[in-house]
Amino acid sequence: MTEYQVLARKYRPQTFKDVLGQDAIVATLKNAIKSNRLHHAYLFSGSRGTGKTTLARIFAKALNCQNPTADLEPCNQCASCREITLGNSLDVIEIDGASNRGIEDIRQINETVGYATSSGKYKIYIIDEVHMLTKEAFNALLKTLEEPPEKVKFFFATTEVHKVLPTILSRCQRFNLNRISSELIVQKLKMIAEQAGVEADEEALRLVANMADGGLRDAESLFDQVLAFTNQKIDAETIASILGVMTKDIFFSLDASAKAGDIAQGFVIADRVFSNGKDIVHFVQDLTEHYRTLLLIRLSGKDAPFLALSVADRTAYEASAKLYTPEQLLTILDFLIEAEQQIRFSPSQRIALEALLMRILRIHQRIPVDVLVKRLAELEQQVGGGYPSDAAPQLEKKNLTPPPNSSQVTVKETPPPQPLKKTSLTEDPTPTAADLQVSLKKAVPQPPPTPKPTASAAPAVPLTPIDPAKQSKYDTLLHFAAVELEGKIQRKSSINQ
Ligand SMILES: [Zn+2]
Repeated sequence: MTEYQVLARKYRPQTFKDVLGQDAIVATLKNAIKSNRLHHAYLFSGSRGTGKTTLARIFAKALNCQNPTADLEPCNQCASCREITLGNSLDVIEIDGASNRGIEDIRQINETVGYATSSGKYKIYIIDEVHMLTKEAFNALLKTLEEPPEKVKFFFATTEVHKVLPTILSRCQRFNLNRISSELIVQKLKMIAEQAGVEADEEALRLVANMADGGLRDAESLFDQVLAFTNQKIDAETIASILGVMTKDIFFSLDASAKAGDIAQGFVIADRVFSNGKDIVHFVQDLTEHYRTLLLIRLSGKDAPFLALSVADRTAYEASAKLYTPEQLLTILDFLIEAEQQIRFSPSQRIALEALLMRILRIHQRIPVDVLVKRLAELEQQVGGGYPSDAAPQLEKKNLTPPPNSSQVTVKETPPPQPLKKTSLTEDPTPTAADLQVSLKKAVPQPPPTPKPTASAAPAVPLTPIDPAKQSKYDTLLHFAAVELEGKIQRKSSINQ
């Protein structure tokens, strides 16, 4: 009977050269073996599925192997190698720190540490999730770490290195494992698919890799689910339906709808997400990734670094990126980052998602704040009155010559609104004429040296009655300004808290 093995175990690397994406660490470990300059303790940290225990195990094998290769790889044939692979070696002892976290467990280690090894080589303790040990257990371990017997080595693995006591850390050589790039994960999945005799297209594998977020083990278990489900040709649609992710089409269609001003598409897309039973928070995260990619490509072109995309994808993203200005993409990213938290705790995720999609879809109708401020200033001059005579020319100058490097982020350059206005803007959507005068002053960039602690302390500005014929135009524009600026004020005040 052939035993079914999950992919992550079946394809677990057994030699250094099979370890993905950790070349520098592998080189350092091999060097240590070669020059015989070994530390007593090593600590491997990194997010889940990046290969910490795998690396520790290969290192242990290489140290105890009876016939290592010239390249210092373990042979995987000798008794020691085979025992370690099967997890029944008497010299290489693996301990799960999560379930053996007490002082008694560590005392047992301390008691056995002095016994000779069966192979005559090293006695190696691999403690996984070492941060889970209790403080007492750490202290007991410390005693052994301070004066370990000559042939004893400790290999620790942890996802949360900040929880490991500094006294322990200072006695270890530390390695931080990188997240594995999507590119490498895709290559590995491709190899697995070939060995399984399954045809899988690149976009499909990329979806799996993206979902695993740099964790190879996660990618392998996800792919395992897919292979269990189908042995036919695997494409992006199949993966999307099995793993509950969205293909990129939905994001590109959102871009097109935004450009066309088809705001109703927000409901259609939200419905697709819901009727497919997708996780909403995950969808918003994918959407954030989409807009990050668009911004990167918009700013640096389709060969932008930090992107794991095929050539075809880069071309598709480039086309979509051209539909937005960098300011619009930044604003959308702001929406998304804000919305992710809100949606997570929203009692009605569907409505929250619809609202988010609508905000994105009306991005092209949105007047940038700097344009709005300029228009208000012009309007104020038309209706007569407003600024002290020396403030107006300054504003003109500011608008004509933007500060250096401001072209990408003009929106962010708006001066922070005064705290007092927060209440009047949020509580009263239809401001009175007096309010208008004050909020208008706030919206306009003030000359820097003028200190302005509160609105009441502001220098008096002569108020001119507004021509009733122009009142409604004025109201509409100010209402827009209030809506636009409210978001800024709220964000500002939540940062200050
Ligand atoms: Zn061997």
